[in-house]
Amino acid sequence: MTEDVRRRIPRTDAVLAEDPVADAVAALGRERVKDLVVAAQDRARRGELAPGDVTPAVVAELARLDRTATALRPVINATGVLLHTNLGRAPLSRAAREAVVAAAGTTDVELELATGERGRRGAGALDALAAAVPDAGGVHLANNGAAALVLAATALAAGREIVIARGEMVEIGDGFRIPDLLRSTGARLHEVGTTNRVHRRDYIDAVGPDTGMVLKVHPSNFVVTGFTSSVATAELTGLGVPVVVDIGSGLLAPDASLPAEPDAASALRAGADLVTASGDKLLGGPQAGLLLGTADLVHRLRRHPLARALRVDKLTLAALEATLRGPEPPARTMLHTSYRALRRRAEILAATLDVPAVDCAAAVGGGGAPGVELPSAGLALPVTAAAALRAGTDPVLTRVEQGRCVVDLRSVDPHDDERLAAAVRAVSGSEPGR
Ligand SMILES: *Cc1c(COP(=O)(O)O)cnc(C)c1O
Repeated sequence: MTEDVRRRIPRTDAVLAEDPVADAVAALGRERVKDLVVAAQDRARRGELAPGDVTPAVVAELARLDRTATALRPVINATGVLLHTNLGRAPLSRAAREAVVAAAGTTDVELELATGERGRRGAGALDALAAAVPDAGGVHLANNGAAALVLAATALAAGREIVIARGEMVEIGDGFRIPDLLRSTGARLHEVGTTNRVHRRDYIDAVGPDTGMVLKVHPSNFVVTGFTSSVATAELTGLGVPVVVDIGSGLLAPDASLPAEPDAASALRAGADLVTASGDKLLGGPQAGLLLGTADLVHRLRRHPLARALRVDKLTLAALEATLRGPEPPARTMLHTSYRALRRRAEILAATLDVPAVDCAAAVGGGGAPGVELPSAGLALPVTAAAALRAGTDPVLTRVEQGRCVVDLRSVDPHDDERLAAAVRAVSGSEPGR
């Protein structure tokens, strides 16, 4: 490499100041773009690139990147698992996304604009939740379902006992076990019953002066069948200790399409003192922990020092309020879409892509409606398409079953059908339209 060529390689600052590159610095941050510039300069030093091509090479590289400053990439969920924990669970509604963007700057999250006084933090979201579940005397929010449970267990049972059925000592996912979480608060677990059966008598015998609460946990990712019995919430009341029900899935009221799934309103009406649930499961909102219960109990939880450590941020509050007050969120639309509508979409896509349409079975997933199969439809592709679609520029997650790659449409927003078709075309090389 001659001194002369070396000198003609543009300096980092000069490349960063050029028009399209400067825009990218504003969007992505200086460090991320600088890495690309340094890589192009290195290639020029190795003689792989002419000095004059350094800036164009950086511009080309930028065009290939998503124009966001994070490593998170949008993906299309065609797995047929509506709430996929690895894919961020519930997709937010457009109203919720817009609310997040609007709240992202400075916002009146904890201020009364009319008076200039400090306001109740997240009043809009809390009021929306209270309005959605009139049976709750009080409502509170935490970071996720696990945080809601930790707050309740700490405030009610730290250093004391939690009475819980053995069959409800569940592992939720990725090694996350509810009993471990509960013990981490300093509470002791008093297990009652056996793996398959527990009776009201077991609870009565277990409750004593050291009992902080009785906890009922919904086994949200498995079903036990055969010789089984559990105790309904209504039968746990009157034991003289608070009854906490972890329903997990976040259904606020019964949903006719999921008759076996517990909901907050029914649990409260049955006498639960507190219900905990997640915001990003069947509610279809952001990651959050919902706490709904009697006014006294919720007040106690809100005033506990730990509540501050588990509190939700303004983006969550904005998204949750818009989910509760706005149009039906995508997760619920996906749940309620008819098989016929899905089959129609599948046939349209299949015709344009020249691949077979198939019937398949989708699932709620993410800790909801275990064992429930939702009739669905989609596309059948060769099994090799699964990895190719996942690695594509607009990644699509599918399901491999029976030696084929199934693109299940129940978990795909219909607005994304065009995107999905383009991604499938990109891996199959077939021409658009016919
Ligand atoms: C999902 C779930 C949790 C955990 O909620 P996160 O929001 O994931 O923290 C706890 N309990 C039950 C029954 C669940 O289904």
